[in-house]
Amino acid sequence: MTQPIHCEIAVIGAGVVGVATALWLRRQGYRVLILERDGIAAGASYGNAGTLAPYGVMPIAQPALLRAIPSLLFSSDSPFVINWARLPRLMPWLLRFLNECRASRCTANTQALATILQRTYSGYEPLLADTPLARQGLQHRGCLYTYGTRQGFAAAQAAIELRRSLGIAQQVLSVAEIEQLEPALAGQSVAGLLFPESSHMDDPKRFIETLAAPLVAEGALRKATITGIKREANGLHLHSAEGQHYQADRVVLCAGAWSGALAAQMGDHIPLDTERGYHIEFDRPNTLLNRPCCPVESAFYMTPMAGRLRVAGTVELGSIHDPANPRRFDYLEQHVRRVLGLKEPVARRWLGFRPSLPDSLPVIGPSPHEPRLIYAFGHQHLGLTLAGATGQLVTECIAGTAPDWLERFSVQRF
Ligand SMILES: Cc1cc2nc3c(=O)[nH]c(=O)nc-3n(C[C@H](O)[C@H](O)[C@H](O)COP(=O)(O)OP(=O)(O)OC[C@H]3O[C@@H](n4cnc5c(N)ncnc54)[C@H](O)[C@@H]3O)c2cc1C
Repeated sequence: MTQPIHCEIAVIGAGVVGVATALWLRRQGYRVLILERDGIAAGASYGNAGTLAPYGVMPIAQPALLRAIPSLLFSSDSPFVINWARLPRLMPWLLRFLNECRASRCTANTQALATILQRTYSGYEPLLADTPLARQGLQHRGCLYTYGTRQGFAAAQAAIELRRSLGIAQQVLSVAEIEQLEPALAGQSVAGLLFPESSHMDDPKRFIETLAAPLVAEGALRKATITGIKREANGLHLHSAEGQHYQADRVVLCAGAWSGALAAQMGDHIPLDTERGYHIEFDRPNTLLNRPCCPVESAFYMTPMAGRLRVAGTVELGSIHDPANPRRFDYLEQHVRRVLGLKEPVARRWLGFRPSLPDSLPVIGPSPHEPRLIYAFGHQHLGLTLAGATGQLVTECIAGTAPDWLERFSVQRF
């Protein structure tokens, strides 16, 4: 049998959460090794809408969604779809999700999200100070929601009020103010909402790679598909499909939507599933928009990125094993052509897997069965936003200084 490779802390997964976590651990002086199957930012972290969204306090599971579900699921032009063939497998997750749509659960989950989102920038700041080049890839121009109908804007009032009560920066905009900020959206909306504290990335993958550069330079990233995890007296033992064997004093599991199978090996059966999301991109030096803009009723973001416009979003419940659904790409294309009048062809198409728990909260904290294993996954629509905060919270868990409120994110809530 080969000798195991020893490391102090192994981080499984080099998505944005794994990279930020490894960087935070490195800052605390730990010797870290990231074990990654495909490469930096190969999963959901590659193709997202690129926004840091400290305003994103509203869980996906909410009473308004519950009321809208029948029309959303049975409409041929909907941003929220389900692969009916997967219904039996999805049922346990869906039932929990429906339960989380109750007003009392939604309020509790909103509170929890609001608390962790307060760390959006403080979680990133030390990492950006270490790699100033990454900072250049962040633009601070806010994020704009636009409403195409009076009815849509009226439906948003409860969320606007809630964010106001939580002290989240937002400005209601008139049609003229929208058009001043984003001339390309002229004539499209009846009202808008600007989140001035939101930022966006020119290129999420490049941003994460730039952040990860010190880890790569130190040889702290290895290609490995972890298939087995075992507890022994001298540490946690990891086995990879490539035939390697690692022994770690501690392991942090950051494998996004793929984390459930490894957690189950430790006896933790976590209701993690995926909300599949899509993007299409148009190559154009002039991206038309100055900031991420979200036509709310269509539920996607149009984000200006380096040399291209990325249109990303929608939710499809299915499986990480199903191929891309071409109708989802058509949905994005038809709607963005209507909104922006684009004529050029679609340059690229992408499907990604948001790691999602039914209550829209990530799991952050130790396994109840094995305190040397720490979970950090399930960030649904907010992984880019919460990666820095998550890395910081993982270091606090290890140091025994985590805030009491982190209990809300424990796996024991299920
Ligand atoms: C369309 C879309 C738009 C989005 N927009 C935004 C946005 O604007 N703002 C925002 O904050 N969030 C957004 N998100 C969500 C965000 O992208 C995710 O929450 C985030 O990327 C999750 O990061 P992660 O590191 O947990 O997972 P991932 O990025 O999926 O990384 C997991 C990594 O683990 C690796 N891995 C898996 N299994 C193994 C194994 N067994 N061994 C070794 N490695 C393994 C994978 O290869 C992968 O690299 C969006 C998501 C989508 C799909």
